[in-house]
Amino acid sequence: VSLLPPQITRAIEEFQKLPGIGMKSAERMVFHLLRSTRGSPETLGAALTGLKANLHYCVQCQMVTTKERCDICEDPSRDATTILVVEEPLEVIAFERTQYKGVYHVLHGVLSPIDGMGPEQLKVRELVDRCAAGGTSAEGMPKVGGIAEVIVATDPDVEGEATASYLREKLKNLVPKVTRLAHGLPMGADIEFADQVTLKGALDGRRSL
Ligand SMILES: [Zn+2]
Repeated sequence: VSLLPPQITRAIEEFQKLPGIGMKSAERMVFHLLRSTRGSPETLGAALTGLKANLHYCVQCQMVTTKERCDICEDPSRDATTILVVEEPLEVIAFERTQYKGVYHVLHGVLSPIDGMGPEQLKVRELVDRCAAGGTSAEGMPKVGGIAEVIVATDPDVEGEATASYLREKLKNLVPKVTRLAHGLPMGADIEFADQVTLKGALDGRRSL
């Protein structure tokens, strides 16, 4: 039997559903919110309530945006012939801190059969369609305005490598070049948290898949 009022127990339970948050952290957060003068439960609640409002995926690259197409896809100064494929939206932000000037495609996950993540759960079909629409001509040359290179920047772990191999097979006949980030990144690294020098090195040293 909980000695805590039910609304506190419920808030603790909700925090515990978040990744990496255990019972102790959840309790600390809830009691912090109850005492805090800087952030209130109401402002946190309001931020979360509005979180999904008017938010969707860019029709082209699947980045989160409030518009039909994101700012990067809409920017005419970007090199639309090069697509950098990442697992999560936050990795786009990480690569934006490098000198990368191409465009992106966000998969929203990686292949992971034990987690029930197959190609259907990822934005793979959207990537294939995108490459097929603007890929290579019958002569193997990039179509005008087409895709010249797809850089696969999934994390260098088991799922990331499996996803890269899968994408290579799907894309190799659609685009002239499919490359993979160089292994300046240690195996098991998380791209989202890599520093910009490491990321730029990995990007510059990319190799053919
Ligand atoms: Zn976009």
